[in-house]
Amino acid sequence: MSTKAPLAPAPYLRLRSVLRRIIPVGIRHSRVLSGLRKRIGRPRSMFNLVAVPCVLCGSKSFSPITPNRTAPVVRCGYCGFLYVNRQPSESDVRSYYELETQEGYTRNIRQWQREQNARMEKVWIEDMECLSPWLPPQAKTKGFRFLDAGCATGFQLVSATERGWDAWGIELSEPIALELRTTSGLQVINGTIEDGLRALGADNFSLVLMSHVLEHMPKPRSAVEAAYRLLKPGGLIAIYVPNGEGLQARHDFEGWEWSGFPDHLWFFSSMALRRLLVECGFQVEGMWTCVGHSDAGKLYDLVKEQLHLDNYEQAGAVAEVLGPMGLLSDLRIVARKPIKPMDQTGG
Ligand SMILES: [Zn+2]
Repeated sequence: MSTKAPLAPAPYLRLRSVLRRIIPVGIRHSRVLSGLRKRIGRPRSMFNLVAVPCVLCGSKSFSPITPNRTAPVVRCGYCGFLYVNRQPSESDVRSYYELETQEGYTRNIRQWQREQNARMEKVWIEDMECLSPWLPPQAKTKGFRFLDAGCATGFQLVSATERGWDAWGIELSEPIALELRTTSGLQVINGTIEDGLRALGADNFSLVLMSHVLEHMPKPRSAVEAAYRLLKPGGLIAIYVPNGEGLQARHDFEGWEWSGFPDHLWFFSSMALRRLLVECGFQVEGMWTCVGHSDAGKLYDLVKEQLHLDNYEQAGAVAEVLGPMGLLSDLRIVARKPIKPMDQTGG
């Protein structure tokens, strides 16, 4: 989603959401808000940004690669990991996803649901189909325990429920979680993945999906640890994130579709993602890059222009080679929670 438009800070978003409820339809809320803004002054910053250490190695040394941003993207001075520093607090992130903004998450999700967006639907189907080589035989039976952590539109929950799976979702946006529960009858916990662990309990799921979620989370290590605990021993996790070392990120980081703030806080390379999962106790079973959730048109334009190709068919052929080279923009990993924890195998 685009984050180019200036975002209002949480207090204004809250105020707008209150105004929408109390002011009759037909009166321009934006006019009321701009009047209020003139009276109480413009906010200095949209978020309370705080300095954070590298989530991979804990180092506090870094160098900015996008110095002109309010919240620059930096490269860790010790391990080379790319991340946003300074970052919004957890409560600011929660407000951002909970309340409707002009360009925001909740609004986009509702729009996708209304339009039954064909492109997204194809992407969501592929999100599950690519996991079939790893799914156990029990996935063909009823009651297979599936968790979509960051379930957004609930598409995967609907589709998993239709397969007969016992499907649960966790969703940070309260209005979306409520809507999925009440209008679609889906099993959705509102909150963070850690809240989901408290509500649902450990050793509970056979498959956890986190599709384009981890890079949005202020505490990705804690989220992966929570996912580990939610899984049964032998259970699978599938994590999809924008590829921080893909061709498009390397070519023009600022212009790359997944570099937007405050949505994306961490830019995983394959090594960084593998390291995080292994450190949280997982055994990695597969890792690859694909077009996935990214815009194929933008990729084809770049390849065509850079290699001076005549047409998009040639660009498509090149894109097929970029996948195995680890250069496409959607980075995916499948890993297993060992039957016995790895640190207890030595005795
Ligand atoms: Zn580091």
